[in-house]
Amino acid sequence: MTVWEDLVGQDRVRTALAAAARDADALVTADASGTAPPEASKMTHAWLFTGPPGAGRATAARAFAAALQCTGPDRALGGEPGCGFCDGCHTSLIGTHADVEVIRTDLLSIGVKETRELVRRAQLSPAVGRWQVIVMEDADRLTEGAGNVLLKAVEEPAPRTVWLLCAPSLEDVLPTIRSRCRHLVLSTPSVAAVADFLIRRDGIEPEAARAAARATQGHIDRARRLATDERARARRATVLKMPLRVEEIGGCLKAAQELIDAAAEDAKQASETVDAKETEDMKAALGAAAGGRMPRGTAGAMKELADRQKRRSTRTQRDSLDLALSDLTGFYRDVLALQLGSRVALANEDVRDALDRVARASTPERSLRRIEAIGACRQALDRNVAPLLAVESMAVSLR
Ligand SMILES: [Zn+2]
Repeated sequence: MTVWEDLVGQDRVRTALAAAARDADALVTADASGTAPPEASKMTHAWLFTGPPGAGRATAARAFAAALQCTGPDRALGGEPGCGFCDGCHTSLIGTHADVEVIRTDLLSIGVKETRELVRRAQLSPAVGRWQVIVMEDADRLTEGAGNVLLKAVEEPAPRTVWLLCAPSLEDVLPTIRSRCRHLVLSTPSVAAVADFLIRRDGIEPEAARAAARATQGHIDRARRLATDERARARRATVLKMPLRVEEIGGCLKAAQELIDAAAEDAKQASETVDAKETEDMKAALGAAAGGRMPRGTAGAMKELADRQKRRSTRTQRDSLDLALSDLTGFYRDVLALQLGSRVALANEDVRDALDRVARASTPERSLRRIEAIGACRQALDRNVAPLLAVESMAVSLR
């Protein structure tokens, strides 16, 4: 089982990364033996992984990080780096390698302060490994100021530092940064590839795996959640009932409110476990007295934590809404396919009755306009329009 095992349906990307890891290995070996580095190396210091959500951008970056740290015996015999078994591979994959840092934000943006600190650490040599690898899973969330801080590090990287940036598309990254990165594009994995992965890696029953893969249309994490989490299935079922409820205005507003409530509930559930512990830990670190009284001068730090928790909750709500909007788009796409008589496999075969009903009661033009209304809602949310307003306006347009 190599480090590439979790990369689903991305053969081209895998080939490119394996070749770069081989050349990176040759560089390290040449360095250690004092010989000249190989010419025309496929290794470079900055990489950008783009591709649709759920295609496995971060998985690809982490696999590459592991391959760069591989010290397996096969490698010395001329085999591929990335055995998956050696200490370098293993600790990289489980996230404990000292020279692999994964930056994953649960906030809406990554600011200047934290980026500066990261860039400072990136100047250091690897502590134990062969390369110092920094995986930034949400490079699209860098603020413009933070992007400019990062640019300097990407322009003049330390000799053994590698930046692996992930973003949905090229447009999500500053042009100055992306022009200095080698760009790899992941594609949406096929339904069959995702199903196969769920069966192989998670031991999910073939039929359930195929249904989850079909419903989520190549989004690996969502497919896995749908196949394993009862709550996710219930949530999807509720969302897919929405098209039948929006025929009159009262139903629209009620359905909108329910979507918002469900997103808030998701955020509450996610934060309940984390926030309390985080707050306790922070209080203890700041030296809270028995009874919870805080020492002087710690109010600022506590406020900063509370702000951070609030921003995280906003992001969870946003992600939850986004998921609902994806399911809804998938529904109308199926309706459109039925109306046009196209022979594509339906994502939501399990609610075929509802699809048929909506398809019969409307026209392809109507379905297109509904899909556009969902897209408009997404854009409004991106512009920070109040979620309830955005969703209500969408629900009304779905009538
Ligand atoms: Zn290895």
